[in-house]
Amino acid sequence: MTCGVIGRFDYTSAFQSAVDQVRDEGRYRVFADLKRVRGQFPKAVRRREDGSEQDCVIWCSNDYLGMGQHPEVLEAMSAELDAVGAGAGGTRNISGTTRSAVDLEAELASWHQKEAALLFTSGYVANEATLTTLQSILPGLIIFSDSLNHASMIAGIRNGGCERHVFLHNDLAHLETLLAAAPADAPKLVAFESVYSMDGDIADLAGTIALARKYGALTYLDEVHAVGLYGATGAGVAERDGVLDGIDIVECTLGKAIGVMGGYIAADAVIVDAVRSWASGFIFTTSLPPALTAGALASVRHLKTHPELRDAHQERAETLKRRFAEAGIPVMPSESHIVPVFVGNPVHAKMISDMLLEDHGIYVQPINYPTVPKGTERLRFTPSPNHDDGMMDRLVTAMDALWTHCNVARMPVAA
Ligand code: PMP
Repeated sequence: MTCGVIGRFDYTSAFQSAVDQVRDEGRYRVFADLKRVRGQFPKAVRRREDGSEQDCVIWCSNDYLGMGQHPEVLEAMSAELDAVGAGAGGTRNISGTTRSAVDLEAELASWHQKEAALLFTSGYVANEATLTTLQSILPGLIIFSDSLNHASMIAGIRNGGCERHVFLHNDLAHLETLLAAAPADAPKLVAFESVYSMDGDIADLAGTIALARKYGALTYLDEVHAVGLYGATGAGVAERDGVLDGIDIVECTLGKAIGVMGGYIAADAVIVDAVRSWASGFIFTTSLPPALTAGALASVRHLKTHPELRDAHQERAETLKRRFAEAGIPVMPSESHIVPVFVGNPVHAKMISDMLLEDHGIYVQPINYPTVPKGTERLRFTPSPNHDDGMMDRLVTAMDALWTHCNVARMPVAA
C-alpha cells in the first residue's frame, strides 16, 4: 500500500521525485548486504539481490585496524553480555549509568590526558549535541569552522544558531583574518578535524592552537579518523604532535579504529560537567549497551599498548598508495592512512565499484556528492594491517584492468 494522495497533497509523488532526483544525478545508493565473518576481517560474505552469496574482501571499512573482530574485544563483549545482559535499561540519568560506561569514560579521559570524558550514542551525536550545547552554555559564542568539517559538526553549529564563520579548509591565514575581525571580548571556538576522511589530509594542529590562543578562542578537535591510529599510545594526532594540552575539547568515535560503536568527548571536568548537564542529545537518550562499552574498553586498552598495529597500518597504506601510483591509478595526495582514488564522475565511480564487486569480489563503495564536491567522485580505500599482499595484488590488478576497460584518466591529479 502507498499513501498516495491524502487530502490535496500527493505524498507518494513527492517522495518518488526526491528519490528520482538522486537517481538522475547518478548518486542513488545501493547498500551492499554484507555478513562479516567472525575473526576473519576484512573478509565478508555478500548477499546479492537474488539471494545468492559471494565471498568478498572489504576495502572501505572504517574498522581501520580490524578491532571489531579482535578476540580480546569479542571476549570482553561476550563476557559482559553474559554477566549483565543486553540493554543499559535507561538514560544515563535514570538507571542507565553502567559500570563499563563509567570505566570506559575514565580510560578515555586518561588516554587523551583530560580530566573527564563523556559518552554519546555515536560520534555524530557527540558532535551535534556538544556543539549545539556549547552555544547555550556560552552566550554570544562565535564559532569558526573548517569548510570541510563533517556533517555532524555543521549540524551542531547550525542548530545552536550562533554567529559562525567558515574558514577555507586548513587555511590558517584565512582563519586568522576571521578571528582578528571578531570582537576581542566575545567567547570563541575553533572547530576542526585532524585527519579529513575523504582527502586524507591532516590539519596543522599546533598552528591552529596558536591562533586560537592568540585570539582567546577554545579549540574543538574531531579526531574520529585518527583516534587509535596516531600517537605513541594511539590517542590521535594531538598526541603525535605533542599538543594534547592545546586541545580544549576532543571528540572521537568508538566506531572506527576502536571497532565498536558510540562517540565521546574528553575535556576539563567542568566542561564535561556542563555538557553532561545541558546536552539534550546526551540527557534524553538510552545509554549504550554495556557489552558495547565493555568491548570498547578492551579495545582502547589493547590499542594503547600495541603501537605495532599502527606501524603495520601505516605500512599497508603507504604500500597501497605506491602500488596504485606504479600502475598509473590516480591516487590523490593523502598524508594519512586514507587512500582516495580520483574518478571524477559518479557514473564511472559506480561502474568501477560494481565491477570490482561482481567480477573480483572486491568491495569499495563509491564516494559521491554531497560527501565530496561534484566532479571529484572517488573510490576511498582504507587498507588495514589485515589486508595481505595477495589481497593487494588482486586489487591492483583488478583496478588496472578496470581503468583500461572504463577508459578513465590515469594521470595523477591534485586533491
Ligand atoms: N566525525 C567525522 C569526521 C566522521 O567522519 C564521522 C563518521 N563518518 C563522524 C564524526 C560520526 O561518527 P560516528 O560514525 O561514530 O557517528
